[in-house]
Amino acid sequence: MKPPQTSSAHVLIFPCPAQGHVNSMLNLAQLLALRNLHVTFLNTEHIHNRLTRFADIESLPARYHTLRFKTIPDGLPEEHPRSGERSVEPLHSVKVHGKPLLRDILVKEKVTCLVADGFFGKLANDLAEEIGVPIIHFRTIGASCFWTYFWIPYLFDSNELPVTGEEDMDRIISTIPGMENLLRCRDLPSFCRPNRAKGEPFIPLETIVSETHQTLRARAVVFNTFDDLEAPVLSHLRRRFPTIFTVGPLHQHRESRAPTAANTMKSNNSIWEEDMSCMAWLDSQPFRSVVYVSFGSVTTVTRESLLEFWCGLVNSKMRFLWVVRSDMIAAGEGKDESVPAELVEGTKERGLMVGWVPQVEVLSHKSVGAFMTHCGWNSTIESVVAGVPMICWPYFADQQVNSRLVSDSWKVGLDMKDVCDRNVVENMVNDVMVNRKEEFLQSAEKLAILARKNVSEGGPSYDNLDRLIEFIELISQ
Ligand code: UDP
Repeated sequence: MKPPQTSSAHVLIFPCPAQGHVNSMLNLAQLLALRNLHVTFLNTEHIHNRLTRFADIESLPARYHTLRFKTIPDGLPEEHPRSGERSVEPLHSVKVHGKPLLRDILVKEKVTCLVADGFFGKLANDLAEEIGVPIIHFRTIGASCFWTYFWIPYLFDSNELPVTGEEDMDRIISTIPGMENLLRCRDLPSFCRPNRAKGEPFIPLETIVSETHQTLRARAVVFNTFDDLEAPVLSHLRRRFPTIFTVGPLHQHRESRAPTAANTMKSNNSIWEEDMSCMAWLDSQPFRSVVYVSFGSVTTVTRESLLEFWCGLVNSKMRFLWVVRSDMIAAGEGKDESVPAELVEGTKERGLMVGWVPQVEVLSHKSVGAFMTHCGWNSTIESVVAGVPMICWPYFADQQVNSRLVSDSWKVGLDMKDVCDRNVVENMVNDVMVNRKEEFLQSAEKLAILARKNVSEGGPSYDNLDRLIEFIELISQ
């Protein structure tokens, strides 16, 4: 048998140090390596250590012979929490401290193409230009939110922004091409709001807008989405950004690409320890009877909100599997940050509370009937692939846009945005699990079929990945 041909391209993949970013970009790295491109995945030391502890990534280079890892320090002291409200500080810190380190790696490693997280837009563009390495941006958010970020200056020009206050939140935003009259002010990215949610990490709106506009300098942009999911926006985006590769859903793509190769081995990209006991618990539950509840890796909630969710879930009489991370309760002055013991105890009758789960597996489990989610893009697209209807409680950033898509564009769930009330939780859970179950399941199933078609042989995302690889090889010469 002939050995597989390796490519002369050497791609450096550089994600922001955060779970959702690392997750999708590591999926891309594996797909590229599967096609024998040389890939170096650059993490911060902190993230790499956590991946090594919880995700067994050290086994990956043995499975993907052209994949390697490199690390740089994030510039923060060891004891920095890097979570909750302070979870974006490593991102800012890498921007400040990372430049010489990244320059060094690009030069010494003879990188021929940089695939940088769009959030590192300016830093990566400047270096790529200085060294003469072609650059591609990868966006871990959906195309619709990216387009909304891009359009923000024009919303100021047309006086649709700023949002003036609470009384202004239901005003319709009419002028975003491809999303006309879809978003209300409350559905805009959280950075457009006059007030931040409690514990919300702080990123100035100007930073978001300027980093988004940096993508105009990149040779191409890659999205973890698929054409059928965001078609109207993508057609507008393609006019401004002529070289777009929609290659998602990446986690599903991996399965359809190499069902018998290295890929079939389970690999998670978690920086938290997965509690596998939830799978046995799910096995013992009836078909589609469980509400899976998770608000991702960054969201924090107050103890009061936690109680509202809990009461709503318990009063709905549904079974539930709830991810409560150890750092999820928002710190308050002198307040207890632990989950109240009576909640843990009271959950046992019909639910299970765990610290972190293998989410993709959980969502595809036959016992799961709905996903109560914060609508991070990864969670949203994972739910779409699994055909699981959603109950959305967006927290910050792109999540407000995503939950509007779920409820009003795709109609695969309900959006409880800005409300945290036990009665609303109970009613929405009952609507999605019982009263409007068939309606939501049907739309979710249709979308899931489209998602899978897009990444199957001959589907647009499948072909776009081939095109992306050809493009990388071309610009690497
Ligand atoms: N996730 C997981 N286990 C959990 C909770 C989340 O594996 O218990 C994964 C989830 O599958 C997703 C990622 O963590 O891929 C979270 O990314 P997302 O974009 O949804 O939200 P973020 O954490 O960035 O807010």
